[in-house]
Amino acid sequence: MTTIVPPKERECERCGRTDTWNDDTGTWAVVERDGDRLSGDPFCLHEWDINGAYNPLEEGA
Ligand SMILES: [Zn+2]
Repeated sequence: MTTIVPPKERECERCGRTDTWNDDTGTWAVVERDGDRLSGDPFCLHEWDINGAYNPLEEGA
């Protein structure tokens, strides 16, 4: 039997934005690294490097 493990982190292949999954809030949160928020380009149409089939709570963007 195969267990599907939801991704815990995703990165935009276009602008480098990196999010981490927050189980408590049920949302993606921008990763902070060395004091910088890896929020990427605010105008980017993010292309996440995860399986597009798994997109649970993402609002239609
Ligand atoms: Zn992006």
